[in-house]
Amino acid sequence: MSCAAAAFCRFPLPDWSGRVWSVPVFQRAARAADAISPDEALARLKAGNQKFINAPQLCESDMAKQRAGVAKGQAPWATILTCADSRVAPELLFGGVGLGELFVARNAGNMADTATMGTIEYGAEHLHSPLVVVLGHQNCGAVQAACEVADKGTKLPGSIGPMVAAIVPAAKAVKGKPGDYVDNAVRENAKRTAAKIVKESEIVSELIHHGKVKVVYARYDLNTGAVDFLS
Ligand SMILES: [Zn+2]
Repeated sequence: MSCAAAAFCRFPLPDWSGRVWSVPVFQRAARAADAISPDEALARLKAGNQKFINAPQLCESDMAKQRAGVAKGQAPWATILTCADSRVAPELLFGGVGLGELFVARNAGNMADTATMGTIEYGAEHLHSPLVVVLGHQNCGAVQAACEVADKGTKLPGSIGPMVAAIVPAAKAVKGKPGDYVDNAVRENAKRTAAKIVKESEIVSELIHHGKVKVVYARYDLNTGAVDFLS
């Protein structure tokens, strides 16, 4: 494919409010996001998570001020793909990160389906977000369901079955291994999702090749609040 930046130049996209970016707005956003490297973004997430664990009372933010600051454009410095689980809110667990800072995709089991892949590519190429984190979590219901399917052939209703089916290979891969079955599957699933993003997205792999983007995976502990980066 041609250069990712050149692709943007040819096909400027509307943002998701339907408004087409003006060039100055996009350039401002791109400069802000480019100011931080993938490793700096990772360090910022780790520091934020420590703040969340050690001093959660410091994580409150001035929403009105933030809202005004980002209304005209966004320059998120990290992309988080995580579970829809109500206990795993990225903006909170990374230290009270404010509006306009994280580009977030969520679905049960943090899977990379077509919509999610497109979301991640949009964040990486068009918003210049330098880091993608696939964040699984302790006691994930979707992963637990996949383990039951792998173990007992459990049938799941509606669209839940096909959704969970995508997680089953990760569950099968760790079945019988030492440690907690579901927790092993959570880690394996996050690892596989991160690998899938790198392997199947030409846009992301090209940005990785140029040192513009990193893709990592991690596990969130519901009890301690700690995010354990595994790659
Ligand atoms: Zn979950």
